[in-house]
Amino acid sequence: MENPAPVRLVEHGIRHSDIDRDARRVLRRLYDFGFHAYLVGGSVRDLLLDRTPKDFDVATSARPNEVRRLFRRCRLIGRRFRLAHVLGEGGKIIETATFRAKPPSDGDALLITDDNKFGTPFSDAHRRDFTINALFFDLAANQVIDYVGGLEDLERRVLRTIGEPVVRFREDPVRMLRAVKFAARLDFDLDDALIEAVLSERGELKKAAVPRLYEEMRRLLWSGAARRSFELLDELRLLEVLLPELTGFLGRPAKDPWQPLGPLLEALDSRFEDPEKPPPDGLMFAVLMWPLFQALVAEFESPLPPADEQALAEAVLAAVARRLGVPRRTQETLLRVIAGQRRFRRAKHERQRRGLARDPDYASIVAFAEMRTEAGDLAPELADAWSEFTDEHEPPPLERKRGRGRRRRRGGKQSGQGRRRR
Ligand code: ATP
Ligand code: MG
Repeated sequence: MENPAPVRLVEHGIRHSDIDRDARRVLRRLYDFGFHAYLVGGSVRDLLLDRTPKDFDVATSARPNEVRRLFRRCRLIGRRFRLAHVLGEGGKIIETATFRAKPPSDGDALLITDDNKFGTPFSDAHRRDFTINALFFDLAANQVIDYVGGLEDLERRVLRTIGEPVVRFREDPVRMLRAVKFAARLDFDLDDALIEAVLSERGELKKAAVPRLYEEMRRLLWSGAARRSFELLDELRLLEVLLPELTGFLGRPAKDPWQPLGPLLEALDSRFEDPEKPPPDGLMFAVLMWPLFQALVAEFESPLPPADEQALAEAVLAAVARRLGVPRRTQETLLRVIAGQRRFRRAKHERQRRGLARDPDYASIVAFAEMRTEAGDLAPELADAWSEFTDEHEPPPLERKRGRGRRRRRGGKQSGQGRRRR
């Protein structure tokens, strides 16, 4: 397994001007003080694919405390594995981590619980998930360093785990969802051994930490390739584990089992392309719950009273929310988005619809109605009524409600950190 001679590639076509200015500044300063430092992870992959990276991560031989001493605006985070967040322009964060050792995994108990030892560039590359995510870029030497065959996989557009996929998925089952995310987003093939390993290990997902499951589901919905992601989840039979309700429903004899889920996911893809502006979580997860909810409501012979419909929506959501760790706040928005569709449809008087415009999630309710229109899930008369109504009652901008983000803004950055260091 040891591969002591990494491929060093000079003709890579990475333009320094495409690398974030703050990331370059971090690398240069680390070099100036005699440390090794590389651009790593998704940023190198995306630069080589001519895509715009989401964020720029750095791996270095400097220890967290050494990093902190080199940068004025920097804080250390992480309890188990300490790493540095160097703050750049406009609150941007350059994650700067010391090379990690490959965590020890022993026999049957592969699930990684101890991941906090420092290591070398070689070990740091090998503890990563997929070959295309383990490329290092050395800015000083202008070279890509490949310890794991990632360049070839990038060229052939295949997603392959570093090492045995069965082992890597047992260590961390969430990697199966990450595989789906990258394959869908980058339009890569999945390596055959990887597919087999997902099929045999998919049950392991039940052992994953629920907040991480939730985060990866979010990322699948907000990837620009949600439709492809969910088709892949279905093909790999991961959907059965994550959302058995949905597969039961998708499996029903019908003309097209992906109606209206597929078109709704496409609407999500075309609407939320900006990687800087995530849609509200409740709106995204409403896309998953809506077809299910619709199918259940349709099973009743006469229309349900609003309170019963609401209770049904809550009951459908409860089990999913527990399994996927959907936060309270997201559930509330989701339920209001669904209720909003019913309230609009059933409103007899303009007055009743006006109440809708005061709903705290009015923007998401409208966005969802628009996505349904796009997906052909809304009768033309209703679609017209919606657009008339929103001309009159313009929704506020869509915003993702984030408890965590707000806390960070308040306590983090300048004030708090600066004071502590002095
Ligand atoms: P994105 O463009 O979505 O940010 P990314 O590749 O940067 O994709 P991150 O989740 O930001 O993915 O993680 C950064 C890097 O950390 C990855 O490229 C990979 O090398 C490593 N990594 C992340 N999660 C895991 C994991 N579960 N197991 C092993 N390595 C991981
Ligand atoms: Mg990233």
